[in-house]
Amino acid sequence: QAKARGRNGYSFYAPSMTGEGVERLRLETFLRRSIEKEEIFLNYQPQVQIDTGRLVGVEALVRWNHPELGLIPPIRFIPLAEDTGFINQLGKWVLHEACRQMVRWQEAGLHVPKIAVNLSAKQFERGSIVNMVADILRETGLEPQRLQLEVTESVIMNTGDAMVFINDLHSIGVALAIDDFGTGYSSLAYLKQLPVQTLKIDRSFIKDISTDVNDEAIAIAIIQLGKSMNLSVIAEGVETEEQAGFLLRHGCNLAQGYYYSRPLTAGDMLARWQK
Ligand code: C2E
Ligand code: MG
Ligand code: MG
Ligand code: MG
Repeated sequence: QAKARGRNGYSFYAPSMTGEGVERLRLETFLRRSIEKEEIFLNYQPQVQIDTGRLVGVEALVRWNHPELGLIPPIRFIPLAEDTGFINQLGKWVLHEACRQMVRWQEAGLHVPKIAVNLSAKQFERGSIVNMVADILRETGLEPQRLQLEVTESVIMNTGDAMVFINDLHSIGVALAIDDFGTGYSSLAYLKQLPVQTLKIDRSFIKDISTDVNDEAIAIAIIQLGKSMNLSVIAEGVETEEQAGFLLRHGCNLAQGYYYSRPLTAGDMLARWQK
């Protein structure tokens, strides 16, 4: 199978290209113009206290609605954006929009304590991430403590200067969470050195928490680890009352998942949570 795209993003038709390759190329071309065409938007998934149901934050989740292809899930276009370098533009747009939305909600009378934004490894390779975040915070006026950046274990372990960037981000007051915790290859020694505030228990451990003894053991271990390292622990993908009950009994009082709310538009967030 011919590789049809150069590193510079220049593309051409290669006769040997498979249907899948053509599809990918088409998606790439569309993706590059998605921001200017205003096809990209954010959804926000509430994060709540299990015992009180109180809103403690939201996670910003990027969405792409293409006029012909419809809604394309991030698992399909984030990897593409990473490969083509478009992730830098996209990541910046997401961060800016997320911070601005926090200020808009505030002005509309909805106080969302904190917003979590996902970062991809490729954004760390750029080097300028700390300046970008600082600029956006200044432009939007959002307090740094109300922004939490989410990175996965593999970002920390495989990105050369991630430790430096993470320390720099911490120094400007931004909070950090480790996403999908427990699924990656990570070193607990690193965890101890990093200014991380939050561990997010991956959804895969929560899914069968009341039936699979291994998942149960892993979830409990992560909760204990968080406790002993003075980190907050939030469970992802909580879909049932049983899962929520299990978490609470084992000392995890923070959750995010369909049981509480699906990711919402900015307007629906306001409608649902505004007093
Ligand atoms: P993630 O950061 O782990 O986000 C959580 C994902 O789980 C979201 O999928 C969310 O909709 C989904 N989810 C939440 N609660 C439940 C539940 O109860 N059950 C189930 N089955 N799923 C639940 P989504 O929005 O499709 O995003 C998938 C992944 O795409 C994210 O995983 C994140 O890694 C990536 N992503 C999303 N937005 C961005 C972004 O702005 N930048 C970057 N770099 N990555 C993003
Ligand atoms: Mg996340
Ligand atoms: Mg996650
Ligand atoms: Mg995930």
